[in-house]
Amino acid sequence: MARTRTIRTETIVLRHQVFGEADRLLTLLTPNHGKVRAIAKGVRRPSSRKTGHLDLYMRSDVLLASGRNLYVVTQAQTIDAYRQLRENLVRSSYASCSIELLDSFTPDGEPNIDLYYLLEQMLSSISVSDNLSIIMRHYELHLLEMVGFRPELEFCVGDNKPIQPENQFFDALAGGVLCPQCGSGKSNVMPVSMDTLRLMRFLQRNNYSSINNLSVRSKVAAEIEKIQLHYISIQLERQLKSVDFLDRVRRLDINSFDKIISPTQAVNRFEQ
Ligand SMILES: [Zn+2]
Repeated sequence: MARTRTIRTETIVLRHQVFGEADRLLTLLTPNHGKVRAIAKGVRRPSSRKTGHLDLYMRSDVLLASGRNLYVVTQAQTIDAYRQLRENLVRSSYASCSIELLDSFTPDGEPNIDLYYLLEQMLSSISVSDNLSIIMRHYELHLLEMVGFRPELEFCVGDNKPIQPENQFFDALAGGVLCPQCGSGKSNVMPVSMDTLRLMRFLQRNNYSSINNLSVRSKVAAEIEKIQLHYISIQLERQLKSVDFLDRVRRLDINSFDKIISPTQAVNRFEQ
């Protein structure tokens, strides 16, 4: 049996799934311990004191007892339930997208305080603002930067020359903007207008307070969405491949003390 220690932390519930008779297996994002998995025992019983404090997207203060592979939630108290977000289908689908994006780019157990507060601000913002698509684009760019996939928007990724104020191309695989000389005739690149590029740079450089009231023409809003979603899907594929590779490398080392085991095995082990 592994040693048990207890941590008190605030957390945002990224995912939850039914586990056993009355429990849930939670994926939690914390500021100082990164993304962790935790069992909330008995939480699906209405009588549980934790019920209602560990719902999806909820920001809560929790007490976690750590086993070797999984935490167990021993106490939970809501900090912010983001009620307006829960009661509106459009807002809650923006919440799902932002959480899914963060979840896909973050490995377990790697602390990233900035990322935690980015998500916290995102959930607060989309609860109240009506500028949802621009807030989403801003969130995407800042998340990408925090996980090491910042797109290059100032210099051509082909020849490294400064980008001139004219329409350009965007090369998602190369990770940024391509000048007309490098981009024209090249396959798998997308045209990007100077207006859209300027907007991307503005969102990349500025914090949330400067973009909340920004109004953007629908043509530019459509173009930036198309480019960023394409970029994310290409980078995510690379990210997933590298995670998969790491996973396979770990599995090869079958004699290692830290070998990967399934959550079910982990729970059994914790409870032994
Ligand atoms: Zn170039």
